[in-house]
This record gives sequence, structure tokens and C-alpha cells, in this order.
Amino acid sequence: MVGMQPISQLEAQLQNTHLQLQAIDAQQKALYRVISKIRGSLDLDMIFRTTTKETCKLLRVDRIAVYRFSDDWGGEFVSDFEFAEPGWDFGRFEDNTVWNDSYLQEHQGARYRNNECLTVSDVYTAGLSQCHLDILVQFHIRAYATVPIFIGQKLWGVLAAYQHSQPHEWQQQEIQFLSQVATQLGFAVKQAELMAQTERKAEDLRVAKEQQEILSNLIAEIRESLDLKILFKTTTREVRKALRTDRVGIFQFHDSLYNSGEFVAENVLPEYDSAIGVKVNDHCFGSEYATKYLQGAVLAISDIHQAGLKDCYLEVLEQFQIKAQIVVPLIKGDTLWGLLCVHQCRHPRIWQSAEITFIKQLAVQFSVALSHTELLAQSHSKTKQLDRALQELKLANEKLEELSNIDSLTQISNRRFFDTTIENEWQRLTRTTNNLSLILFDVDYFKAYNDYYGHPSGDKCLLEIAGAAKSVVKRFTDVLARYGGEEFAVILPDTDKAGAIKIAEQIREAIKKLKIPHNSTPIDPSYVTISLGIASLIPTNSQSVHNLISQADKALYQAKKLGRDTWVCADSVASIIED
Ligand code: GH3
Ligand code: MG
Ligand code: MG
Repeated sequence: MVGMQPISQLEAQLQNTHLQLQAIDAQQKALYRVISKIRGSLDLDMIFRTTTKETCKLLRVDRIAVYRFSDDWGGEFVSDFEFAEPGWDFGRFEDNTVWNDSYLQEHQGARYRNNECLTVSDVYTAGLSQCHLDILVQFHIRAYATVPIFIGQKLWGVLAAYQHSQPHEWQQQEIQFLSQVATQLGFAVKQAELMAQTERKAEDLRVAKEQQEILSNLIAEIRESLDLKILFKTTTREVRKALRTDRVGIFQFHDSLYNSGEFVAENVLPEYDSAIGVKVNDHCFGSEYATKYLQGAVLAISDIHQAGLKDCYLEVLEQFQIKAQIVVPLIKGDTLWGLLCVHQCRHPRIWQSAEITFIKQLAVQFSVALSHTELLAQSHSKTKQLDRALQELKLANEKLEELSNIDSLTQISNRRFFDTTIENEWQRLTRTTNNLSLILFDVDYFKAYNDYYGHPSGDKCLLEIAGAAKSVVKRFTDVLARYGGEEFAVILPDTDKAGAIKIAEQIREAIKKLKIPHNSTPIDPSYVTISLGIASLIPTNSQSVHNLISQADKALYQAKKLGRDTWVCADSVASIIED
């Protein structure tokens, strides 16, 4: 039949189509493999290596390479794979082989920008310009197909397939496959860049957090430290660590015109000179910079040779191998005390605003510390002075009291005065026939009172008792004295036994009338009471005043034994007086 093909021809066609379909299937599978490898990794080098290798094998071309544009539309090969047949060596494009194509540079990526693919099946018949051909020949390229790699809208690079040994007719399928791989590469690069960005951000955050921690620790230390030397040491060390710089120093001015000074503390990497102790004289500093620093300005220079600095200043910086620096003022009161200096010596450095803020915050705290330490030192020495003065005052008071005749708590005569007076009176009365009487009285259950109401209340009670007794003992020559802790004595010169008993009874009543509650006595309801011992003698030379005191003491003991709140007179019958 006309138009009918022989069966064998149809079979051959069928076979051919089958083979084509198989090839397409293999390609799709390979593409899937490449894509999944691309997706599975964030390591760009790895991605490029796998992609070029798989693509090269699949397309059966001599070489597959990835080329990346730089900002000026020059570029370099970042990866390539060569399907090496034994005996052939075309020379690899080493990674980072720079191949600047002036045409691409001039036209900013030229046709690649329009997402066009370029195919040349034989460089010698493609009508290429001589210079272009020269480059291709140099790399032994006979045929090539290149497809652009985009990241979003931006042309990033080119995926290229090269044939070295012979021309190559590029199939549409092959180009399509290259394009698909290039698209996936674009995604991968974008993802890897995003990842790197995220990592950078995380790293920035981590560094910022670390700096913040160092700052708050330093602030705490600054607040507590009185020792500037230690403070300088920790600050320079921590700041250098936090900013990863080469030197951090603290510069102190020597004069009020800010023309000279020296580094008083630093932390510096061993490969750079120490700045400590080097006297710096810079006569333009005072006029040029001091005022600005005094106003709180901060100087951040990323490259000292690009900052338009005066020669005299540059000389100083070069002396310390400084390439970049941050300088912040350290103010004490209203003067510029010094400078906190952060130096980068290895190379220039662009300072981040977070880094500058960090140093600024630190310097403010430091300035507070500078004023503080002085104030604290002042108040420290003042406290010491006051301590000394107080000690002296205490000693003087003790001396005064020793010399004094007044009891400090009750403001009545003290034991010292009692002792001399009773002795004097005894002596005086030995020359007369008049009696010398003595009353000793003691507060009842006073230990219990103290325990129950507390010692201060006990003191108050003693004061009231003294007051009440004083209101009874009125005669000019009578002496009411604090004899011991809660024991009192009344010296009654020219007073006989009866008179003494009268006074004793009045005192007992006066104190009871105070009605000072005393709820821890065995008596209920109860008030503070006293017991009294009375003795009365006509002083003679054959006896001593101690007889009188002893008699009174014994009588007092008797009164206690009789049940308290009573008086006993030596050589007299004890009487218990009921209210
Ligand atoms: P008594 O009735 O036998 O005298 O019993 P008392 O508890 O008073 O006995 P004692 O004389 O042993 O206790 C005296 C207490 O007085 C002991 C001490 O705590 C207290 N005292 C002594 N001097 C002072 C003082 O200056 N202030 C105060 N608050 N208490 C004192
Ligand atoms: Mg007592
Ligand atoms: Mg007592």
C-alpha cells in the first residue's frame, strides 16, 4: 500500500521511540536524584560537586562547570567535574579559576540576564569573535551549552556543559535538563545563603548576648569595687574578649590641658606591643579632641588612614600599631579623666553600632566608678576617723565618770561618792555624840523583773525608784546613792534610829506607790517593792564605818528573809508593815 511502511521500519521506529522514552525516563530519574541531593544539603560545595558530577555522567559530556558572577560581572568557576576519558587531559578549571569575560562584564551578564541559554556545537563554525574563540581554545573547548542560574530575579551564575574532544550537537532535551538543574541550583544557593544569613544573625545575637552579660557583670563589679587597679584589669580583659580585638587600654591624662598621659592598664594580644607606661605627648589632642570627648562624644575609626586624622595623632596611633579604634571618654566629675580605648591592630575594622553602644555604656559606668571610688575612699577614711574619735570619746567618758560622783543611769550619787561621804561623815561624827544612820535597800525579785520585762525596762524601773527615794530624802546633808546594781544606800548623818526608820518606811511606801507592775512575782497582783536594812551607830574611833555598813547589810538580808517589801533595823525587832 502507498504510504504504508514496512513492518520492519515501523518496528525500528517503535524501537527508536522506546529508546528515546527510556532516555527521557533515565534523565528524569537522574534529575530527581540530583534535585533530592541538592535539597538534602545546605553545603554549597557539596551541592556543586554532586550536581556537576551527576549532570556530566548523564549528559555524557566532557565537563560540567558552575560559574559564579562577581559584583562587576566578572566571575570565577566555583566547581567543575570532568568526565575523564583515559589519555585525555584538558586541564581542570581549578576552583576559583577566574575567567573574566569582558563582553559579559560590559553587558552585565548579557543575554543570560534574559534567561537565555547559549549553545555552540562547534566553536570554529559558530562565527565567534576572535578574542572569545581564543579563550575557548585556551581551555580546549570545542562545543558548549550554558544556562543561567538565577536567585530570584538576580542572575547569579552559569551552569556550563563543555565538550573538549569533538563538536556536539546539543539536543533540546539536554538543554532542558541543564536548565532544570540550574533552576534547582538557584534554589539551593538561595537556601544556603539564607541559612548562612540566619547563622550570622544567630551568631550576632549570641555575641550581643555575651556582650550584654559581660556588661552587666562588669557593672556589678564596678559598683562594688573600690580598687581601681583590679577594676581596670578585669574591664580591659573582658572587653577585649567580648569584642575580640587586639588591645583594650585605659589611658589616663597627666595634665589638665590633656596634652600628656599614659596607658595605665591594658589587655593586649602577645603579638602586639604593650602600651603600658609609654608617655604620650600630643600637643594637638587638648585643643582638637578634648572638648568633644568632654561633651561625651565617642570616636569610632574603622581605618585610621582613611579618617583624615592629623599627622601628630596618626603618629601616636602608629606607635601602638593601631589600624582601627573606638575611643570613649572616661569622665570624672567635670573633667576628662582618661580614655577607654579599643584597638584593632591586625587590620582595619568596621565597628558595629552594638559594639560602640557596648563600650559607651561601659564607659558611663566606669565614670561613675571613678567618682565613686574617690567618694567611697573619702567616706572610708572619714568612717575610720569617726571610729577613732568615738573611741577617744568613750575613753574620755569613762575617765570622766571615774572622776565624777554621779551615777549615769539614775543621776543620783554613785558608789564612789557614797564611799568617801560615809567615811568622811563617820570621821566627822566621831567627834560628836550624834548618830550616823545608814539605810541599804534592794529591789525585790528584780532578776525576775528583768527577765520578764527586759533589761531596758529594768533600767527605767531603777530610774523611777531612784526618783521616788529622792523625793523622800530631802535634807541637804543626806545622801542617796546607787550602791550596786539594784541596791541603793541612804546616808543619814546626825539621824538617830527612829529617824532612819521613818525615812526607810517613807521610801518603801513611795516606791510601792509608783505601782510599777511586776507580774512575775509570787504575789498576785503585784507591784515593784523593795526591802530595806537599817543601821544606826554613834561613830567612835574603836569602830569603823564598816561595822555600820555590815549591820545594814545584815538587816537587809533579814528583811528579804522576812518576805520582802519590809524593813529591818539592826538591833531592833523586825516589823512587817502591811498596807
Ligand atoms: P531579791 O528579791 O532577793 O533581791 O531578788 P532579786 O531578783 O532582786 O535578786 P538579785 O539581787 O540576785 O538580783 C539582782 C538583779 O538586778 C540582777 C540583775 O539582773 C539586776 N540588775 C542589777 N543592776 C541592774 C541595772 O543596772 N539595770 C537593770 N535593768 N538590772 C540590774
Ligand atoms: Mg541585789
Ligand atoms: Mg534584788
